[in-house]
Amino acid sequence: MMAQYLEIKEAHADALLFYRMGDFYEMFFKDAVNASEALDIALTKRGKHNDNDIPMCGVPVHSAEGYLLSLIRKGFRVAVCEQMESPAEAKKRGSKSVVKRDVVRLVTPGTLTEDALLEARRHNFLAAYGEVRDEAALAWADISTGAFHVMPLTSVRLSPELARLAPSELIIPEGLEQKLHDPVQDLGISLTPVGRASFDSTAAEKRICGLFHVGALDAFGNFGRAEVAAMGALIDYLEITQKGKLPLLQTPLKETEDRVVQIDAATRRNLELTRSLSGGRAGSLLSVVDRTVTPGGARLLEQRLSSPSRNLDVIHARLDAISFAAGDSLLASDMRDALRKTPDLDRSLSRLSLDRGGPRDLTAIRNGLTQAAAIAELCTGQDLPVLLATAMQNLTGFDDLLNLLDEALVAEPPLLARDGGFIAPGFDSELDEARTLRDEGRSVIAGFQQKYVEHTGITSLKIKHNNVLGYFIETTATHAQKMLNPPFSETYIHRQTTANQVRFTTIELSEIETRILNAGNLALEVEKRLYQRLSGAILDLAAHLNQAARGLAELDLTTALADLARGENWCRPQVDTSRAFNIQGGRHPVVEHALKQQSGDTFIANDCDLSADAGAAIWLLTGPNMAGKSTFLRQNALIALLAQMGSYVPAEQAHVGLVSQLFSRVGASDDLARGRSTFMVEMVETAAILNQADDRALVILDEIGRGTATYDGLSIAWATLEHLHAANQCRALFATHYHELTALAGKLAGVENATVTVKEWEGEVIFLHEVHKGAADRSYGVQVAQLAGLPASVVERARIVLDQLEKTEREGGKQKNLIDDLPLFSAAPPPPPAPPPAPKSSPLTEMMASVLPDELTPREALDLIYKLKEAV
Ligand code: ADP
Repeated sequence: MMAQYLEIKEAHADALLFYRMGDFYEMFFKDAVNASEALDIALTKRGKHNDNDIPMCGVPVHSAEGYLLSLIRKGFRVAVCEQMESPAEAKKRGSKSVVKRDVVRLVTPGTLTEDALLEARRHNFLAAYGEVRDEAALAWADISTGAFHVMPLTSVRLSPELARLAPSELIIPEGLEQKLHDPVQDLGISLTPVGRASFDSTAAEKRICGLFHVGALDAFGNFGRAEVAAMGALIDYLEITQKGKLPLLQTPLKETEDRVVQIDAATRRNLELTRSLSGGRAGSLLSVVDRTVTPGGARLLEQRLSSPSRNLDVIHARLDAISFAAGDSLLASDMRDALRKTPDLDRSLSRLSLDRGGPRDLTAIRNGLTQAAAIAELCTGQDLPVLLATAMQNLTGFDDLLNLLDEALVAEPPLLARDGGFIAPGFDSELDEARTLRDEGRSVIAGFQQKYVEHTGITSLKIKHNNVLGYFIETTATHAQKMLNPPFSETYIHRQTTANQVRFTTIELSEIETRILNAGNLALEVEKRLYQRLSGAILDLAAHLNQAARGLAELDLTTALADLARGENWCRPQVDTSRAFNIQGGRHPVVEHALKQQSGDTFIANDCDLSADAGAAIWLLTGPNMAGKSTFLRQNALIALLAQMGSYVPAEQAHVGLVSQLFSRVGASDDLARGRSTFMVEMVETAAILNQADDRALVILDEIGRGTATYDGLSIAWATLEHLHAANQCRALFATHYHELTALAGKLAGVENATVTVKEWEGEVIFLHEVHKGAADRSYGVQVAQLAGLPASVVERARIVLDQLEKTEREGGKQKNLIDDLPLFSAAPPPPPAPPPAPKSSPLTEMMASVLPDELTPREALDLIYKLKEAV
């Protein structure tokens, strides 16, 4: 057995080998040490190898999924090795034969299909990056839904695209590890280098054509060599990990860079689109806009949010659909009720195609199609907008399949096909007969017990069943004597004696048992056959079913966004090719949501107008910390993004001229993990914007230059602003605390000052969160520090220093002198207040000193009051 183990392990050196032994997956040697540590399970040993103990650990097969998930999350790959025959079959080949085993599947982060291992509401992408000469391309697929895409790109676009798709695993040709290490690690993607042969574009083309049964790739579009290589490597990897069983991939959809708004990784992080800065979903834009009710709808939403469109037709079609759903809320809410009952068609379909499904995947398809039919019925006769009409068309045409599944399946089937019991009675006569025989047998046995009790006169006699003996008659040792002797011993055959019981059988009992067993086995066999037939009928319509699933997801997303728009009072944005950016009464959806939840405060809506007929339109925003500058900046970026994903937006009115790129930077964020200085990161990110932003970009810069000395920072912010204005000529919002910059507004056409106002009242600041044209008069830093709880002495001292600084500046004095002039001041806290004087002693206080109220009875308390009354 060890020889077999070592041979299989050698072929899968880079994976942990789950070696099936009966009811366990066992691991040996280094695998066992690693796995026991990662899973926190006991490490034992078994036998010796080269005179050393062999370390071993194992997990039960029935709970293996949970362990698999932990291992995958911790970065392991797992090769699952099964027994390919029963021990009995092995014995037939020779008494010393080892059971045949083989790896049936390699489990990696990008190739999961089980519900327990996947997040229902997120895609799980496997991506492949290929380079052929100076071309590069990225292909990606979600094998749990069949989605398959490819995109040519320049290598600088790789990191932003990876940030958009967030694949869980990236396949690359060996040798590129170093180059891709940084972006991949930042995004938490597991990197899998494979042999360069996998990426050979000629072989790849054959592989793709073979998979989709076409003679040439032209059928799907025009693909460059790098694209073909990336797609081919992806398919090759699937063949290797799935051991030849390919999932149902849809035909490849080609994407291009100019199809979607370009958003790089730093901007995504900053705007907290799908993940908040702390890493979770909570607090992200996605979390507050998600009202979808199906996993497919949720996945589509995340995809849309990650890839806002640049195609006006697409945007308008989506907006039309939402307007329709928001207008007919009754119909929309009926649709949503039906959608809530719709299972995840895509993932069931994928499991069936990989032969990893079960009866519940069959019923998922049935239930999904039932709801699809109900939704189509709801919409008959409606004048639907194009997007919904197309989605609706895809929901119909399944009558035959639905009838078949309806007739064939019970309502609530068991999990595993091998347990049987999922085919409805009346569907197959052979199955019905076998089941009747089996069940009748059981009732005959129940009758036997009564018969044997009467025959022997032993009323406590029972017929029981276990896996070793099958059916048997059981009686206590005292009564058994009678049965062990004639005449009863002629009928009752002794089988077993335990501590307190004696067990018998009879000829008729074992005969009926054989009949039950045979009938039961036959029933299981027929059910297995029917399972294959139903699964086959479903897979015949796989492509059509995929479209239906997409239609349902589209309906879910449309009605969810309509629900959000109505509930939160969002408006339909006007999106066109102009260079407008005019938002009236805009709000930040996440901050507004948080305010509502936490304090019940209302969010102050603000306008922003960056419309530019030609050249740049830049707002330079000043105002104290905590006034709401960052919030204002981000809300406008989010509104642009929501508008272009084809959603309503949190504003009273919005006019957005198509945005091609979205950039967002925040000054001085720490990036310790990469070992770069804070300021360096800030400058690298700013450089990326200045080098890339075109005149259709929307840029928001928050406190750029903050990470260095005042004059350095001011100069850099100054030059950056000038570059955005003159070279990039884009629409931009620029928040800064350098008041000196406000002077630029007067000099550069198209640059305007704006400020978030605060009020000062009795020495304290009150944040109004209102954005107005004009520059801030001062920064209120000291007041904010006071609000934050800085010791009073420090705040007081800061006020004095500030007054002096401002005075010196007004009078044109030197700072050096100022420091000399400032009166010396110790920031030591004031002395503690003197303790209150001890109360003078009086007869009353003396009397009270001895009273212990806890110990007084009511009677004593009353007496005390009388005494007190006397004393005063
Ligand atoms: P700044 O960037 O000026 O330091 P922030 O944008 O971080 O300020 O805002 C600080 C806090 O003020 C936010 O967390 C939010 O609670 C509140 N806030 C900001 N803008 C608004 C607004 N328009 N209406 C209500 N509260 C707001």
